[in-house]
Amino acid sequence: MREALKKIGLYWQPLGGNNPDQISGHCYRYTDIRSAGRNGQKSSVSLLVDLGKFDNYQALGVKNATAAVPDIREILADKKNAPQALLLTHSHPDHLNGIIHYLKAGYRLPPVYGGKYTLMILYDLLCEFNIPRRLWPKFHVIRAGDKFTFGSLSVDVVSSSHTCFDSFGFLISSQDVCVYHTGDMKIDQTTCFRKSTDLKMLKQAASKIDYVVADFYGISSDGLAVQERSTYLRLVHLIQSVQKNKIFIPVYPTHPEMYLIAFMAALKCKKNVVFYGNVDFFTYLKMVVDYGLSFENMAKNRIKVSYSHDKEALLPLKDDYVVIGTFNELPDVFEANRKNSFGIITASTFFNPLKGQFNLHNIKFVTVDDYPELQGYGHAFWGDVEKLNQTLEQKACFIPTHCPVFMIDDVRELAQTCDVRLLPQTPQNNQIFRLEKERASLAFSAPAKWLAVVYNSPDSAFFTEVLQKPTSGKGFLKRTISRKRCQKKFKSFMIKRKKRK
Ligand SMILES: [Zn+2]
Repeated sequence: MREALKKIGLYWQPLGGNNPDQISGHCYRYTDIRSAGRNGQKSSVSLLVDLGKFDNYQALGVKNATAAVPDIREILADKKNAPQALLLTHSHPDHLNGIIHYLKAGYRLPPVYGGKYTLMILYDLLCEFNIPRRLWPKFHVIRAGDKFTFGSLSVDVVSSSHTCFDSFGFLISSQDVCVYHTGDMKIDQTTCFRKSTDLKMLKQAASKIDYVVADFYGISSDGLAVQERSTYLRLVHLIQSVQKNKIFIPVYPTHPEMYLIAFMAALKCKKNVVFYGNVDFFTYLKMVVDYGLSFENMAKNRIKVSYSHDKEALLPLKDDYVVIGTFNELPDVFEANRKNSFGIITASTFFNPLKGQFNLHNIKFVTVDDYPELQGYGHAFWGDVEKLNQTLEQKACFIPTHCPVFMIDDVRELAQTCDVRLLPQTPQNNQIFRLEKERASLAFSAPAKWLAVVYNSPDSAFFTEVLQKPTSGKGFLKRTISRKRCQKKFKSFMIKRKKRK
């Protein structure tokens, strides 16, 4: 791998975001090689972006494994090109939780740079896993608009619309090449309580951005990704029109923006709020409060807010409330029935048991099948990619990530129709590309590995190498995007555009 980094230039390497099919375990490396001094000496700067866990670890077939992570052991051991920083785009486990397992396995990591909320989540994980403080990497809190320099590389922090607070992208610039690493994002300019994707900053930087390492997770949907405002308006409309006393709105635990949107909708409709859910939900809810948002301040005595669903706690709410949280059952205390209750389900499969409960009690409910805008969505649709491409004046070359490799092969024709320029060669994990202003070339290729994580004791993690290969139909994440369906969709998007032209 080291041999590949001989020539002067900027190199990009995906380690987890470009899998054969299922997508998670994100980690990417940027290395800049420059000449330094007269005797042909070279300087090297490496940065890592994200270190997530691979969700479908069960499919790897390693006995007693509890997680899997991308293999960056060689990168960490390479003294010459050791990463100087680990930049974190956001707090989701597939971008963050690999850190924990590496520390547990005895590795030391470079200083981490992340938003306040991201580092709050990381802090919580470090405590939960009992990692001794002396092993913690250094924390650097970053904000949108910050600029850092690491040797010959500079990094600008760009705000991104995603489903958690402090989601960022990065402009990573060497002497002659600039890459916009988007992180998970959509274009949505209506995010609540946090900065949206900074289109103004991107427009200003358009002339210098050569590549976009882009989130392609949602590109099999057309148009722009669901806006938070659309979710809010739909919730308000539903709460007002059904005229029931008790409204149940289950939300996905790692999407705190949905807690807020549902809360704002309840407030608009002057309905009290009961937060109710599992441990995960209350952990994230506490994080939102610690981050600085106060539901009481927002309520300003217009509605009552309860964090408990005891009989006594519910009494002052006078049977008029919205229940917000991660729940799959309806405890008796809510006395929910056909006459007084209504359900609004905001995720496609997560709340299937709850649907069963609604049916059992004859309670009417709507789902994302009825109103797709009910589901908060954090990733770019194809329309977002087009919009980003326009914002960047169609000058940048897109390097797709966060999607199965086959999707990149299949979207090429559509991309061409829409004047979205893609990296000619479909990138796969563990390959290294040398990014020049005018062209990119493959500098290294070797099979990528996952490291299955087994805990022999709570204090020591042990890694087992497994080659990365398709895992569809195996493990607990059996679902994957079917190639056929994807191809069909891209065809239909193309026909639509050709008709328009
Ligand atoms: Zn995410």
